[in-house]
Amino acid sequence: MPARLRLLTMFTAYDVVVAGGGPAGAATALRLARAGHTVALLERSRFDRPRVGETLAPSIQPLLRDLGVWEQFVALGPLPSWGTRSIWSSTEPAAHSHLESGYDSGWHVDRRLFDRMLCDAAAAAGAAVSLGASLIGCRYDGRWQLTCSGGRRVTGRLLIDATGRSATIGRSLGARRIAFDRLVGITAQWSGVDVTAEQYLLIESVRDGWWYTAPLPGDVMVGMFMTDADICRHHNLAASGPWRTHLQATTATALRLDTALRSTTSDGARLPTAPRVYSAASHRLVRHGDTRPWLAVGDAALAVDPISGSGVPRALRTAEAAATTAARLLLHPADAAPLTSYEATRNTECTTYLSTRADYYDVALPHPTPFWTRRKLPTPA
Ligand SMILES: Cc1cc2nc3c(=O)[nH]c(=O)nc-3n(C[C@H](O)[C@H](O)[C@H](O)COP(=O)(O)OP(=O)(O)OC[C@H]3O[C@@H](n4cnc5c(N)ncnc54)[C@H](O)[C@@H]3O)c2cc1C
Repeated sequence: MPARLRLLTMFTAYDVVVAGGGPAGAATALRLARAGHTVALLERSRFDRPRVGETLAPSIQPLLRDLGVWEQFVALGPLPSWGTRSIWSSTEPAAHSHLESGYDSGWHVDRRLFDRMLCDAAAAAGAAVSLGASLIGCRYDGRWQLTCSGGRRVTGRLLIDATGRSATIGRSLGARRIAFDRLVGITAQWSGVDVTAEQYLLIESVRDGWWYTAPLPGDVMVGMFMTDADICRHHNLAASGPWRTHLQATTATALRLDTALRSTTSDGARLPTAPRVYSAASHRLVRHGDTRPWLAVGDAALAVDPISGSGVPRALRTAEAAATTAARLLLHPADAAPLTSYEATRNTECTTYLSTRADYYDVALPHPTPFWTRRKLPTPA
């Protein structure tokens, strides 16, 4: 084989290929690369568009320290988050301070920068990180033969689906997604806002769902309405006018924004960006009798309701479990036990999550509307 071709072949064969460079995929790639495995991390985006999931619970701190990226995180200039105020089952606000968490604060972050920082850390640990690279085809013949956007091909002994809520890889391999709801988040941002006095998360229940507002670094406020996909369509909430009308019907949220926008630092604060709709549906990805060496991590394996505020910490925790399982599979390819045990743990996590979610919504129904009555129905098995 000519030397140049041999070089290309060497560079396209990896122990592990991770599809998706969100927190779960980047942290898995980082851990595996550090353990000495050859890893390719493929990320569809270039982190050039806004990303949701900006409020990080205090429990993120030990996870980032354990990954060895705490200094890089602090260098991003995240805003401390001092706690949560909620108007949920009562008109009286309830306050929860992060000072009791043992870590002083949570954080409000720009998720583009946060996710990019984790990918950079994976690259620094030795992973081959490709941005703007989607995994679009996979075939297993004793090795994974993988096709990326642009026609590039890579092979891997092990494949990891870290594609988030879409779980595109696992589903293309035949795994079944069990959806627990049809939640969506419709979000917009105001720029040029003085957020000095706003460093907390506010959630407020309304007839058709609940609102979430938080500050972001760079004098930005984010507002998000969480509702079900059919309610979003019915009220045309992806359009600016209806979205803002819904916002004006809130009490604490509208008041908070009115106050914050009065101390604006530029004209940009007067109008929010056009709303964008994101799927926020909970699901579990289930594989049946498939012994091929692949696994799902983060939201691809189990996606949870943002009300839990646990999405990113959970993604980092499952990344640790996925990296351990992957290392065992690479060492003992014929042993099915690590995969079975990994799946069993995800099932237990799912059961625990569903009961926690029921508790979150197990308040006196704030409003007797479809959104809230659906939260009382049993979830599909
Ligand atoms: C509306 C909303 C609000 C949220 N708020 C919070 C919050 O405040 N706090 C919190 O902790 N969590 C929050 N979450 C949850 C949190 O964002 C997720 O749990 C977390 O991002 C999961 O990380 P992940 O890496 O598994 O998936 P993701 O972050 O979704 O990353 C998946 C990555 O895969 C890439 N990708 C997809 N397909 C391909 C492909 N074929 N090839 C290559 N790359 C691909 C995507 O571009 C993406 O970068 C929120 C979620 C939603 C929807």
